[in-house]
Amino acid sequence: MRTTHWIGGKPWTGVAERAGDIYDPATGQVAGHVDFASAAVVDQAVAAAGEAFTRWRTASLAQRSNVMFAFRELLNARRRELAEIITAEHGKVLSDAAGEIQRGLENVEFACGIPQMLKGGFSENASTGVDVYSIRQPLGVVGVITPFNFPAMVPLWFAPNAIACGNSVVLKPSEKDPSAANFLAELFGEAGLPDGVFNVVHGDKEAVDRVLEHPAVKAISFVGSTPIARYVYETGTRNGKRVQALGGAKNHMVVLPDADLDLAADAAVSAGFGSAGERCMAISVVVAVDPVGDALVGKISERIAALRVGDGRRPGCEMGPLVTGAHRDRVVSYLDAGRAAGAELVIDGRSHPIDGERAGFWLGPTLFDRVDTDMSIYTDEIFGPVLSVLRVPSYDDAVEVVNTNRYGNGTAIFTNDGGAARRYQNEIEIGMVGVNVPIPVPVSYYSFGGWKDSLFGDAHAYGPEGVNFFVRSKVVTSRWLDPSHGGVNLGFPQNS
Ligand code: NAD
Repeated sequence: MRTTHWIGGKPWTGVAERAGDIYDPATGQVAGHVDFASAAVVDQAVAAAGEAFTRWRTASLAQRSNVMFAFRELLNARRRELAEIITAEHGKVLSDAAGEIQRGLENVEFACGIPQMLKGGFSENASTGVDVYSIRQPLGVVGVITPFNFPAMVPLWFAPNAIACGNSVVLKPSEKDPSAANFLAELFGEAGLPDGVFNVVHGDKEAVDRVLEHPAVKAISFVGSTPIARYVYETGTRNGKRVQALGGAKNHMVVLPDADLDLAADAAVSAGFGSAGERCMAISVVVAVDPVGDALVGKISERIAALRVGDGRRPGCEMGPLVTGAHRDRVVSYLDAGRAAGAELVIDGRSHPIDGERAGFWLGPTLFDRVDTDMSIYTDEIFGPVLSVLRVPSYDDAVEVVNTNRYGNGTAIFTNDGGAARRYQNEIEIGMVGVNVPIPVPVSYYSFGGWKDSLFGDAHAYGPEGVNFFVRSKVVTSRWLDPSHGGVNLGFPQNS
């Protein structure tokens, strides 16, 4: 199977200079190839998007909204097919792939209501006979660059709002699981989106760099690891583009002594090992406030033992493989590094039973206890099924740990004390906070984004901030003379 670019409403027909392998992570076998775009191919996509923009920018709000409604219906009807594509290339279990599509659909539904979001303000008689109003206009061609871990949801964080605001899009998805993007492109076409409004180019740094420097690309939405997010932000803004770049994470779950420990253990296991820990909102650190450490580690361990790890297409499997062999090996290297640094390896995921082919990119759920903040298993984003428990003497120490961490994506507090939870949400320097909710991904009518090294730029993704990102406002001051009015006045305009 070959996955190629989608430009101007159809698959690209050229011959690629470079291509990459697509793996089936559950078997470890090469399942297909993906064409890598050269700068010239990116230029073709940007040209198609620029051409389409000249018409799409004046499409009525009703038409844009209708396209989104139709796209929503198609995506809903064909979500099973898309989930199968995601599982085949990413490895996450089918139910998890279905969950990511559901969260993506919510963003499409938000975009269906774009007329409401694009209303401007109007002041009648700002000066007598003079009206002032603001309008919100699209930017032009926008680039969307996305990571491997949510091949459908993250593109759907951006593309529906960008398009509904009147922009055209060039999406560069991850080369590791590229086919979901093409599925979305086909559905947009079937939904009546004019050719060229949504384009997909595949590839790696070469394609990204061309998007970052192309003069016709006005804005870039990026999601990925922190070093690349910083690079994209710095390069894109240096080239005069509006950029929002969401980066990596290390998400802490603080468990206070009064918490329901069964609920907390369920949450830690779900949020730590769902999607094999390859989520930017995964919990990777449990901060156990004394004296809950022993009991909590015991309850988490019991639950890990019962987890069914295997091929995401097999019924009953709860956690799939890692995305590539190289990534699995990198994650495994932290197991030895953590032990060497003095952490207690309570559960070694290498010995977990696997319901799948031996050559798959497997690592079972792994648990470390008595982790310190100077160990690499704590400081680095591992992005795999490795959960660390850090023990602290007090609530204040827990806050200190979380606030000192360089990342600021998500966090959760587990407690039955409303006052403590309220204090936590006030004091904590993190963009998304859960109270007895381990993965507090905001619904589509709020916006998603972290603080510190988890976000470069000012605008969070989707929701109201997402819409603001994709439009520029313009203020019009207008006077239509009353038929009875006349005469020349050379004075500077004054409000009266
Ligand atoms: P990545 O940074 O390797 O890749 C992201 C995108 O950048 C891909 O499209 C990739 O092709 C491109 N890219 C990779 N190297 C590049 C380079 N040197 N120059 C230019 N472009 C380059 O990230 P990933 O491994 O695909 O995804 C996992 C990361 O994404 C994790 O760090 C995770 O925390 C993060 N993430 C963050 C969020 C968030 O909302 N903050 C959401 C999802 C994932």
